[in-house]
Amino acid sequence: MERNEWLSMSEKVLSDVKEWRKAHPKATFVEIEDEVHRRMVQLEAQLLQDAALESSSREWGRDRSEPAPTCPTCHVSLQARGKRSRTLQGNGGESVTLTRTYGTCPKCGESFFPPR
Ligand SMILES: [Zn+2]
Repeated sequence: MERNEWLSMSEKVLSDVKEWRKAHPKATFVEIEDEVHRRMVQLEAQLLQDAALESSSREWGRDRSEPAPTCPTCHVSLQARGKRSRTLQGNGGESVTLTRTYGTCPKCGESFFPPR
């Protein structure tokens, strides 16, 4: 996600909380905390997804400058076999979908979803 998208997303959280506070002038501290947390979780999920994709979505099968991962058994480069999505569960219960290139080992035929 672009920096300016981040800024507008953060600003939205801020203005949403302010709006909510106006609509709930008698909210308790715990209620306010819940409301803020609920919104921060979404921001956190987005940040988590962005940060995780940064290192994993590089297309090692296509981009020559990006070395292919190797089979841990045979120590040969994997062959790219397209992309697969995996949904992970974050700490706050939010889900994050990562799309990564997976590959097969030309020697033993094992399929990998590179862990990095
Ligand atoms: Zn192998």
